[in-house]
Amino acid sequence: MGFASDTDGDPFECERCGTCCKKGGPGLHDVDIRIITEKVVNPENLYTIRRGELIRDNINGGLVYTDTEIVKVRSEKNSSTCVYFDDAGNACRIYENRPAQCRAMKCRDIEDITDMHLKNRLSRADLFGNVGWLMEMIDAHEARCSYRDVHGLIERRKEGDISAARALSEMIAYDQAVRDIVHEKKAMDEGVQDLAFGLPLARVLEYRFGIRPGKSWAGT
Ligand code: SF4
Repeated sequence: MGFASDTDGDPFECERCGTCCKKGGPGLHDVDIRIITEKVVNPENLYTIRRGELIRDNINGGLVYTDTEIVKVRSEKNSSTCVYFDDAGNACRIYENRPAQCRAMKCRDIEDITDMHLKNRLSRADLFGNVGWLMEMIDAHEARCSYRDVHGLIERRKEGDISAARALSEMIAYDQAVRDIVHEKKAMDEGVQDLAFGLPLARVLEYRFGIRPGKSWAGT
């Protein structure tokens, strides 16, 4: 008679329980470009977390400002479950081609995932580098709406500087205008905008900072 124990096989191997998949989609790395070009992963299921954005640190816990941009697989609406997780079957729908981060994830051993966490992140330049007009728009958007400037404006407003609130409102308007332009010109599908320009600034300000720029915040 034998019982399965931690010494049978590799005790750290993925048991395909789905727990990780319910904590958010993975961030992608440069090797994952293959699953995008081969259309295993649909660009509409991706979005970009821009440099300086506040994120949850799944390795060390807590919230941190990311100093690198992260292309990430979306979660289901109003849920943190990865869009590629099949709840009914409790399985990954792209398991054989799952992203590198999912391959490195082992339930009781975080060494591999810790090692790779910040290395060789996939970037928008990797994806759109050969689309000149789009990279120009992305760079212009980054120059006008960087999170470094957002943080600076929030701090200035806290110190009572009303002009900082106006500047932030203008930044939000620019962020939206960029999305409207590519939509009107039918230059890209709406679902890909969050990959090209990150999540809408107004939405991030509300859910990360509790800020809804308006008359009261502007102090007018
Ligand atoms: S891609 Fe697959 S393995 Fe990775 S988090 Fe999503 S459902 Fe899980």
